[in-house]
Amino acid sequence: PGTLYVVATPIGNLDDITARALRVLRDVALIAAEDTRHSARLLQHFGIATPLAACHEHNERDHGGRFLARLQAGEDAALISDAGTPLISDPGFHLVRQARAAGIRVVPVPGPCALIAALSAAGLPSDRFVFEGFLPAKAAGRLARLEQLKEEPRTLIFYEAPHRLLECLGDLERTMGVDRLAVLARELTKTFETFRGLPLGELRAWVAEDSNQQRGECVLLVAGWQPPPEEAVSAAALRVLDLLLKEVP
Ligand code: SAM
Repeated sequence: PGTLYVVATPIGNLDDITARALRVLRDVALIAAEDTRHSARLLQHFGIATPLAACHEHNERDHGGRFLARLQAGEDAALISDAGTPLISDPGFHLVRQARAAGIRVVPVPGPCALIAALSAAGLPSDRFVFEGFLPAKAAGRLARLEQLKEEPRTLIFYEAPHRLLECLGDLERTMGVDRLAVLARELTKTFETFRGLPLGELRAWVAEDSNQQRGECVLLVAGWQPPPEEAVSAAALRVLDLLLKEVP
């Protein structure tokens, strides 16, 4: 059988395409893309004439079979999404799973990914983090999810649509508190790339004041929960007290 390459493409700056991505996209028989018109422009920019076929959320499960048939017949194929790494808040999971189940080799061709780009330059702890993708679009669902996350000690990373950013910051402030540090990473790799790190209350106010901050693409990073210092002290004090009490006759 052929090989399925999962190929990352730029998240804004076209110079971020890798040499390997270009070679693979040129060499495969077929490219499965989320939006063929969008991807046609990318391929045209790089002078790549490989045929495109649609593989989006709605047809991935059913049409996956067609790609698999061609892979099984010995053709190589690539999977791309509109931007960044396929499967990361993008389609592709079902196709990759089906391909693996069918014994087809699946090879990643790594490259741009908004969450990693944001984390790598935000200045928040990066040793352990949680990627939450998009929060639920409706307020009730979003608040419920944030309630579950408010005592998560690892750095939290969210994708958000620009028109929901302000609402989302409001709900974050409500659940995690005005003082929790957060970083807004906007328009990564593009002309108006912006990083702004502030306590949630101030960040929300800053975004509310400047409508430019409510445009474009953004990643929101929130510092993980830390136990309040008083509690940490009193827990330690309680342990000491406990030990001392055991010594008292
Ligand atoms: N697969 C992509 C990746 O690897 O990052 C993510 C696709 S997801 C449908 C789109 C979301 O990713 C946007 O709403 C935004 O949150 C984030 N994103 C994509 N490109 C970005 C950029 N250039 N700057 C900031 N965020 C970006």
